[in-house]
This record gives sequence, C-alpha cells and structure tokens, in this order.
Amino acid sequence: MEQPSELKTMDVLKKHGFRFKKKWGQNFLFDKNFLRRMVKGANIKPGDSVVEIGPGAGTLTKALIEEGARVLAIEIDEALIPVLGDVLQGMDAVVVCGDVLKMNIDKLAQEYNLKIPYKIVANLPYYITTPILMNILENEYRFDLLVIMVQWEVAERLTAKPGTKEYGSISLAVNYYTESKILYKVPRHLFTPAPDVDSAVVCFTLRSEPPVEVRCKNFMFKIVKAGFNQRRKTLANSLLLVEPSMDKLKLIKILDEAGIDSQRRGETLSLHEYANLANIWQQHSGTDRLDTKG
Ligand code: SAM
Repeated sequence: MEQPSELKTMDVLKKHGFRFKKKWGQNFLFDKNFLRRMVKGANIKPGDSVVEIGPGAGTLTKALIEEGARVLAIEIDEALIPVLGDVLQGMDAVVVCGDVLKMNIDKLAQEYNLKIPYKIVANLPYYITTPILMNILENEYRFDLLVIMVQWEVAERLTAKPGTKEYGSISLAVNYYTESKILYKVPRHLFTPAPDVDSAVVCFTLRSEPPVEVRCKNFMFKIVKAGFNQRRKTLANSLLLVEPSMDKLKLIKILDEAGIDSQRRGETLSLHEYANLANIWQQHSGTDRLDTKG
C-alpha cells in the first residue's frame, strides 16, 4: 500500500537527519486538507506565479504546484535545501537559500521569469512575521495577493479596527496598502512540532490606490508611530515628539483644524484622520522641513 505523502515527507526529513530549529520558527504543516484550504484561499489558478517564504519541507510548495502554480521558494535553512530537492524533484519550483529580509523579491522574481504581478503565499515563521510583512508592503513589491499563516493574535492585530484593543500602527499600515481579512483559524495541534498558540490564515489584496490621499506617507506614519508609542498619553502630548521644535499650543491648533479633539488617544484615530492630520500639519510646517521620503 502506498504511504501517505506526509509520512513520505517525514521519511525524507529523517533521511537527511533534519532537526527542527526553534530559532527559525520551524513549525511545519503536513495536514493535506489545511494545505489545500490555504491554496484555495490564495485562489491559485494554473499558470500563476507564486513566491513562497519559508517552504520548510515543501508541503505547501507541493500543494501550490499541484494546483498549477510555478513557485519560487526562499528558505533560510541550508539543511532544508537537500530535503526540498527530494520532495520537489521534477516539479516546477525554484528554491533559493537565504534570509528573505536580505533579498529583493522583485529582482528574484524577474531573474526567475515569474509572472508579474505574482502572489505571495507563506506559513510565516512567528518570530519575524511583522518585519517580513512590513518589508513586503513598504518595498511596494509587485504582488497582487498575499496569503499568509500567522499567529492568531497577530492576525487579529493586522485586521483590527480603530478603538479596539488589538488596533495598532501595524493595523493602519496594513489598511493603507491592502484590504485584509482573516480566512480561518488553524489549530495548533496540526503543526509539527506544535506551537503554544493557534494560527490563522489571512488574505491581503493589494489596493490599486491607497484609501486616503496623503502628501507624504512617511510623515503620516511618523505621526502614527508617535500616536501609538505612548498609548496612555493624549494626542496633545504624544505627538509633541513628531516635531520637537513645535509648541503645544500650535499642535493643539493643528489638531483642531483637522477636527480632532487633542484629548483623544492615538489608538482611536482612523487612517483617514491620520492622513488628514498629516496633510494639515505639513501645510503648517512646510513639507520640506519634514521627512518627505515617501
Ligand atoms: N512552509 C512550511 C510549512 O508550512 O510546513 C514551513 C513553515 S515554518 C512556520 C517557517 C519556515 O520559514 C521554516 O522553514 C524556516 O526555516 C523558514 N524561515 C525562517 N526565517 C526565515 C527567513 N528570514 N527567510 C526565509 N525563510 C525563513
């Protein structure tokens, strides 16, 4: 009788003497149903190009290829490269070894002739979920859909609405670049080894235009960061750090002009309110004197 594919993959890992490494967030998913669900969530069609971050033992990679995708997989652990060589033998996949945070995904996609825009699909290592996500968004890579598995609590923060306890600067950034939604929960016992928390699959669709008009997005995000860094302070106090030479009365005037009560706290403001505030602030201070990289 033929062995189920998850056992085969385990055998390949054993054959190569593989040991799971906590430092790289190695919790692998072998459950075929959940892997298929994730591929379905990414709406994979034959001919799609997919960048996968952290292929591990290649179980998700295989599920993507079986649906007709061409996959470029980026894996940091050298010990997994021969494993992936065996598991993906003869399949339409390219594996690149290295740290995704030190790579330019667009350049790799071009080098390996991926279709642009491509999709990004990943069961992300927990220890660097936010840096990887921010790196993808801020670099404005040419993907159109991002489907990732993350810790449940992180999924809640990424998709949170203003005024909730989960809402943070990352929720705002995600909302600026994408439309996001949690697709479903993934129980911890499905992973090997099992982590201490459940996960969720989250889908992000890149917006063609940001939902707000902002003169300089970097300056807006500077205000956002200040607003969330000192959650217990009112805006009149927490935002003083944005432009240290500005006095409090002027800041209150700017907030007033933006229609925002200076006694509110940063975590209650919507993206529209932050964008409006940034634009009015820049009119007062002069764009050139403030950070205008974006
Ligand atoms: N995709 C596999 C699965 O679903 O079973 C493995 C997912 S596991 C949660 C995360 C994977 O990301 C591991 O294979 C780990 O070695 C890899 N990884 C960790 N940090 C990385 C980084 N900075 N760049 C690329 N891969 C990384």
